[in-house]
Amino acid sequence: AVLSRHKHDASRLMQILREVQEGLTWLSPAVLTAIANGLKLPRARVEGVAGFYHFFHTESLGRYRVLWSDNITDRMAGNADLMARMCKKLWLKPGDVSEDGLVSVGTTSCTGMCDQGPALLVNYRPITRMTADRVDKIVDLIRKKVPLEEWPSEYFLVEDNIRRKDALLDNGLAPGDALRALKSPQEMVDTIKASGLRGRGGAGFSTGQKWEFCRAAVGTGANAAHYVVCNADEGEPGTFKDRVLLNSYADLVFEGMTVAGYVIGAKKGLVYLRGEYRFLLDKLNAVLEARRAAKLLGQSILGQTGFDFDIEIHLGAGAYVCGEETALLESLEGKRGVPRKRPPFPVSSGYLGQPTAVNNVETLASAALIAAKGAAWYKAIGTAKSSGTKILSISGDCQRPGIYEYPYGVTVAQVLADCGARDTQACQIAGASGLCVAPGEFGRKIAFEDIPTGGSFMVFDNSRDMFQVARNFVHFFVDESCGFCTPCRVGTTLLKNVMDKISDGHGGEYDINDAWRIIRTLKTASHCGLGQTAGNCVADTLQKFRPSYELRLNVRDFEPAFDLDSALSKMREVTGRDDPGAHFHIAHRKSKSG
Ligand code: SF4
Repeated sequence: AVLSRHKHDASRLMQILREVQEGLTWLSPAVLTAIANGLKLPRARVEGVAGFYHFFHTESLGRYRVLWSDNITDRMAGNADLMARMCKKLWLKPGDVSEDGLVSVGTTSCTGMCDQGPALLVNYRPITRMTADRVDKIVDLIRKKVPLEEWPSEYFLVEDNIRRKDALLDNGLAPGDALRALKSPQEMVDTIKASGLRGRGGAGFSTGQKWEFCRAAVGTGANAAHYVVCNADEGEPGTFKDRVLLNSYADLVFEGMTVAGYVIGAKKGLVYLRGEYRFLLDKLNAVLEARRAAKLLGQSILGQTGFDFDIEIHLGAGAYVCGEETALLESLEGKRGVPRKRPPFPVSSGYLGQPTAVNNVETLASAALIAAKGAAWYKAIGTAKSSGTKILSISGDCQRPGIYEYPYGVTVAQVLADCGARDTQACQIAGASGLCVAPGEFGRKIAFEDIPTGGSFMVFDNSRDMFQVARNFVHFFVDESCGFCTPCRVGTTLLKNVMDKISDGHGGEYDINDAWRIIRTLKTASHCGLGQTAGNCVADTLQKFRPSYELRLNVRDFEPAFDLDSALSKMREVTGRDDPGAHFHIAHRKSKSG
């Protein structure tokens, strides 16, 4: 039935795998074979896709799959102790499935709930503000096999936590306002260009130019078409603004997509929604339905013949790399999310090889705002090189975590004051791959010309260990590297090994130099931005928080990460020896000094 609903279309493999898994809880070998046969695909291709994404399971992980969000902010809020408590009560080791096959408990990368952590996903539904009491109650519900639908609804409450609104969040627009203000497509390109709107995902490419290139590109083949893709795969640790925009401003986002469709000549738009935001799917589909009923979507929009545009939502399945636009397109086509070579760029060869405008959620919402209110009004907000506003997702050591919208040009110090941060040691801006800002730099500005950001803003006070912050990020990149190119696949693992070695007290100067060598290789030889930026967190903290590394460097010469003395303990037990000569360190030091 699932295959028929998707017309046996191989490009819908991701959606098919998800729907089948939702029904059966996992993708058994027989199921993968049946899907491969039904889609006339090699089985290896289907298995390859299923194995690529964190949220597809090719082995049974139990009726309840618990995944604790493991961003650094969840760590700071105590997720490790809470998970240990849950595992102990369920008689489980992290990562294992219970003997009765009922439940498994593990960790996953940031789930986009950093303003209300510690958080977890149960069967991919988020539960926020975890406490010891909540852990105990959830364990009870699992033991009693209570269906998720009957769990207390307040467990699944996800708050917006909007703390500061500006031009975008306080827009005063009604659905359709932007569409009613449309001029000719070329005039709209000129308007968006004149507004100075740049991509809000972080890279900051001119949106007007992107649309102009896409509009000029010609589709190929019998199915020639143009597409609009909304990148709602915000996976950067510490980012959750798209969650809020989609939850409470979906009309504006869809309207921005419709404006983009009108400009580039697309009839179809696709939203790539990150798997962690599965809980928003029904609500978003309801908004789409309401827009169709109001003639704001579908055939003859606003009664204008030929103005046809509709939107479909695709769900991701837990792969950070799919935030990279070409990896996202691969995923939309039902493949592994491996970034493509560029050129060609998506504007000329994107989804299904056709001209495609891929834009971030916030960019599209801003485009709708500009269409309704004009370029000059928008350009007057922000700085000369960064017009408009930026939404920040603030989390970590502050009294009021949440969503803050500012005109570009706001200083880091102002943001810290507004969110109630005290004794701040550092801010990590733009996520794990971004910039670690130390107190001497708090006068710097959030703007493309100074600190560009997709929106993540994590605060660390003086009690935090910046070495461990960087180590958490390095582990994140190891988990999320797609494995396509060697510098990133191997380099991230080598960097993790160095950080773990230093953390375990076995590190020396040699390891610091080794880290620099690996960072250089990652930056210069990786295929995509993930690998190129994976070492930033270590480079920044090494430069700005060197003492947090040095206090762990208790040896200046090379020391292996492997702990030989502890490996010898079994032999000491067997031989009954425990004299100094039977210990590696003591024997080693004696021989060195003597
Ligand atoms: Fe994949 Fe990393 Fe290479 Fe990017 S840099 S293609 S994420 S392995």
